[in-house]
Amino acid sequence: MATAEELRERYRIERDKRLRSDGNDQYVEPTGRYAHFVDDIWTAPVPRDPCTDEIEVAIIGAGFAGLVTGARLKQAGVDDVRLIDGAGDVGGVWYWNRYPGAMCDTAAMIYLPLLEETGHMPSQKYTMAPEIFEHAQRIATTFGLYEHALFSTSVTSLEWDESASRWIIHTDRGDALRARFVTMGTGPLHRPKLPGVPGIETFEGHAFHTSRWDYDHTGGSPTDGRLVGLADRRVGIIGTGATAVQCIPHLARSAGELFVLQRTPSSIDVRNNRPIDPEWFATLRPGWQDEWRMNFTVLQTGGFVDTDLVQDGWTDISQRIRDRIVAGIQSGEIEDVGPEAFRYAYEASDDEKMEEIRARVESIVADPVTAEALKPWYRQLCKRPCFHDDYLQAFNLPNVHLVDTDGRGVERIDATGVWVAGEHIDLDCLIFASGFEVGTDHSRRAGFETIGRDGQTLTERWADGMQSLHGIHVRGFPNLFILGPTQGANLISNITHNLVEAAATIATTIAHGRTLGAQEIEVTPEAEAAWVELIDTHPGTIFGDTECTPGYYNGEGREATRRDRRNSSGYPLGAVAYFEYIDAWRSSGEFAGLEFRP
Ligand code: NDP
Repeated sequence: MATAEELRERYRIERDKRLRSDGNDQYVEPTGRYAHFVDDIWTAPVPRDPCTDEIEVAIIGAGFAGLVTGARLKQAGVDDVRLIDGAGDVGGVWYWNRYPGAMCDTAAMIYLPLLEETGHMPSQKYTMAPEIFEHAQRIATTFGLYEHALFSTSVTSLEWDESASRWIIHTDRGDALRARFVTMGTGPLHRPKLPGVPGIETFEGHAFHTSRWDYDHTGGSPTDGRLVGLADRRVGIIGTGATAVQCIPHLARSAGELFVLQRTPSSIDVRNNRPIDPEWFATLRPGWQDEWRMNFTVLQTGGFVDTDLVQDGWTDISQRIRDRIVAGIQSGEIEDVGPEAFRYAYEASDDEKMEEIRARVESIVADPVTAEALKPWYRQLCKRPCFHDDYLQAFNLPNVHLVDTDGRGVERIDATGVWVAGEHIDLDCLIFASGFEVGTDHSRRAGFETIGRDGQTLTERWADGMQSLHGIHVRGFPNLFILGPTQGANLISNITHNLVEAAATIATTIAHGRTLGAQEIEVTPEAEAAWVELIDTHPGTIFGDTECTPGYYNGEGREATRRDRRNSSGYPLGAVAYFEYIDAWRSSGEFAGLEFRP
């Protein structure tokens, strides 16, 4: 095993190869030849007249954020709610992403919201995308959220009407809706982005982004990964992130020749998926899902509990850190459990984990050159960790070619294929597994602008980074509630935990405002400033580390500015402390920091 210093040096060399001055700007929005990449290929819009009516709560975004908000509002007695989404149905990322092999890397028992309320038992520990999409539909049906919903309807602007204390929502269907309250769960992972490789628009073969998988071209379906249409095709895929890792095994089995165009290898830990036993599931006591979610969060963020209920790769590294600290205390090696001890335990555990991950590559991939190129040289949480039991095996198939670009990426694209290291690879089909808009301005990510009091836009208000109370309320934007991890728990390993808590907070706040007969609910400038100050003065997570290889977790490796930190940090005391804090905040009935105006 390499020494810690040798590993550090190797990590630095690999990171430096990948640093680039254009950071996030290396990516481009789909335009021109690729403009249709943002279109909905799953549902044709149903013709309808524009709506101009008034509703109590407009819920923008019908993914899990919107669905849990709708459910909690209904439970709180607020019935007049309306989902609005550009997609043809609920589901958010699980509506768009139907690529073969799509599944959730977070265990279904904690990822799928409202399992107890809907009475659903997940079929497996980690569920496939079609089952997740179905669960989204189940939530909508159970809570009556299809009623009044507007699908295939993209919001084009959201504007506060001061004279009426209402939001006006304009859409691409000609609607001008009025809403007393608006919740916004527009997520960062739904607008596809493309690599800004020179010549990208000149490719004349077939091309698509993974979030709009073209089954007409490839054959197969979201539930049938046999892509018979690719049998005699030369297929290239750009990207080796979490999405690519899941679809590559299917492409490998189906394509005539598959060229995996790799810039940085992902870390691939074991998946070890298995069915859930209905008899065992029936023994769970009411309230189990909250307990499971919190158990996972405590363990994943380095806390102590007696039993690890989920037991998977996300909690593994924390388990090792804890064990090391306990062993260090017992042996007398660690006297003070402070940041130093944590840093030591973290680095040693991570080195051990990553050596195992690299050894796994070697044990599975037969060709030594390919195996070497598939080894990740960075800390596990620098990039999104991946878990798969078929991905590495795919590189043993004779039709699969790893084209490792040694951190440089695809050089150029032309009419007939791609160029890497001066060599041309002919392709019939090019698949972009190049990810989504993360870290760009609010309007570019959401796809519309939000105009608050005095005509100020959210983009202007956040020019120097996000400013909020709890990640939910923004001064100057009354009656608007935002759902997302940032400036809240910031729990990346189980996104829906952030959303379930935010939905409970928002529903309780709106219900309270209605009881008071309040026309406006708004955060005070002092409360917002104090929260932002907390974020500004205690930022810094291992995730945002510039020692890490570049990626969207660390702003593509750029030195983080205050704006970056505000846009990516959570509550400084961590996710568990945030969930406890926000639970106490909403249960107290005081709603400290908010103004309720008649
Ligand atoms: P990512 O942004 O994670 O990956 C984009 C990929 O494109 C990277 O491998 C990147 O390389 C590569 N790339 C970019 N430009 C070039 C280039 N010029 N040449 C070659 N390669 C290039 O997107 P994904 O769609 O994979 O994942 C996005 C997120 O979606 C995940 O991080 C995860 O949060 C979520 N997801 C969640 C799943 C779940 O289980 N819940 C499943 C799938 C996705 P480089 O690494 O060098 O930047």
